[in-house]
Amino acid sequence: MGAETLGPTVLVVEDEDSLATLISYNLGKEGYRVVLCADGEEALVLIDESPPDLILLDWMLPTVSGIEICRRLRQRAETRNIPLVMLTARGEESDRVRGLDTGADDYVVKPFSMAELVARLRAVLRRLRPGLAEDKVKHGDILIDRVAHRVTRGDEDVHLGPTEFRLLDHLMQHPGRVFSREQLLDAVWGSDVYVEARTVDVHIGRLRRALSRGAQTHGPDPIRTVRSAGYSLNG
Ligand code: CA
Repeated sequence: MGAETLGPTVLVVEDEDSLATLISYNLGKEGYRVVLCADGEEALVLIDESPPDLILLDWMLPTVSGIEICRRLRQRAETRNIPLVMLTARGEESDRVRGLDTGADDYVVKPFSMAELVARLRAVLRRLRPGLAEDKVKHGDILIDRVAHRVTRGDEDVHLGPTEFRLLDHLMQHPGRVFSREQLLDAVWGSDVYVEARTVDVHIGRLRRALSRGAQTHGPDPIRTVRSAGYSLNG
């Protein structure tokens, strides 16, 4: 684990294998966690199961088109605010994307360079999810520096283990949002790792102690326990 941090999770919905692979490779290099999907119907299921931080969505897809996916996501409160970038072919489609109120936050016209794609995704995240795109994120008096792998509260260093660091990072990306233990396990430990739910409680406890240890400058406990629901960082 070391200095590794969790980048934003991006769901790439693209049925052209070679393009999907190229995008995945390049976004991976930029620190994103990439989930690939080649089918519209499957994308909707994936988004329901585990909402990504960002969706990159091709217009032309098998089963359900990108534009229909976009429309459905925007109709539901749970998915309405997920940042979404459409990929379109040059020509009529891009005009329609521009002209229709699809609810996409941006669109990129094929063919595009990987540098352009990376820049556009970053710009959308910076605008809609500043906590995900920046190297340093502040919440109240807590500052997390993802590059230096350092956390401070007020003027004091906060010493965290790697798991507590990732937990805090995840909570700071979504202040105010309540996460169940299972959701935190998926996000921080990974969905393919078997860890008991109460392990989350142990690490939340360590994180709380570290954030409120000693110094007078340390403020009140920033983490809220929501009975039978989970945890959130006070918004
Ligand atoms: Ca396609």
